[in-house]
Amino acid sequence: MAEVWTLSECSFHGLKDVSYELLARGRALADELGVLLGTVVLGHRIQGEDLQSLIEHGCDVVYVADDQSLANFTCESYANVLVPLIQEKGPQVMIAAATTTGRTLMPYVAVKVHAGLTADCTELAIEKETKNLLQTRPAIGGNIMATIKSPDHRPQMSTIRPRSTKKPLPDAKRTGTVVRIASSPTWKNEQVQVLGLRSLEGQSASIEEADIVVSGGKGLKKRDNFSLIEDLAKAFDGEVGASRDAVDRGWAAYPHQVGLSGKTISPRLYVAVGISGAIQHLAGIKTAKCIVAINHDEHANILNLADFALVGDLFAILPEIQKRLQERSR
Ligand code: FAD
Repeated sequence: MAEVWTLSECSFHGLKDVSYELLARGRALADELGVLLGTVVLGHRIQGEDLQSLIEHGCDVVYVADDQSLANFTCESYANVLVPLIQEKGPQVMIAAATTTGRTLMPYVAVKVHAGLTADCTELAIEKETKNLLQTRPAIGGNIMATIKSPDHRPQMSTIRPRSTKKPLPDAKRTGTVVRIASSPTWKNEQVQVLGLRSLEGQSASIEEADIVVSGGKGLKKRDNFSLIEDLAKAFDGEVGASRDAVDRGWAAYPHQVGLSGKTISPRLYVAVGISGAIQHLAGIKTAKCIVAINHDEHANILNLADFALVGDLFAILPEIQKRLQERSR
């Protein structure tokens, strides 16, 4: 029976948390279909304990490609492994995270294997009668939830928002198989080579995976004031987000933009400061667990979605929050 697959992601420090979140999703689908759950791990110098950990967290078969050419993510070389693997093993479902890797790799692979792809899903389920994958995602600026099927092509491919599922609990007694894929010279992509990696100072912007995001908008008035957002994000040990207006004004870099033409995020806490809540901004935060809005306009649209609202002048409220945080940490 064709398997359900996930794509695990590695960083320099080992497996990313999102790999486990995908296993929770994949396990539920595989159980519903009565098939094995596989995961594909691509990288270099992948640790044996990470592979065992994937099994303990719900995976049955771990497909590993470990090679120097896969040390850094490049779409072409990762696809050079994944495409033939999919063609050989024929999984019926392939899910990846809607991270930079997943969003870049999955469309490329989908085209190569002639499959459909539903990006940025928030829910996945199996249709009882047909056993097709039901892929649900926000559509039309986040105003409706659309459920999409790909009945005619396999695998059914989706990317799923990070942090939209809990990491499963490990079970040290679980057993599974590790399948090592023999390295091939075809993996290396001569046209694209990574010469080095450099982090952009102040632009880490992993807001898709952040637990807490503090975003600023036009209400901050000028670039200098945006440091209030950076300071609050730091105090919360979170990441900085921004509305498009703030990004267009150069107060934050594009990787920080939240919304329809920026990133869709699902943090545990989202703090929107001086952001009106335009429909395009809300499209990016619909699945945040808790939204706190700080705005001096009690009719601002963001208040319709917010769980908590602080109505008042942000220039008075933010220093007060900082003061109270400092008092608590003493
Ligand atoms: P504004 O709408 O001007 O809101 C500023 C808010 O600050 C107001 O609510 C005001 O009451 C409040 N404020 C002002 N001063 C204070 C103060 N002293 N104290 C407290 N509150 C104060 N936008 C995005 O954000 N992300 C996207 O991805 C995105 N994509 C788009 C795609 C398309 C195709 C289009 C057409 C638009 C898109 N937009 C996007 C733009 C969007 O429509 C809005 O223009 C934008 O979100 C507004 O940004 P803002 O909330 O920072 O500014």
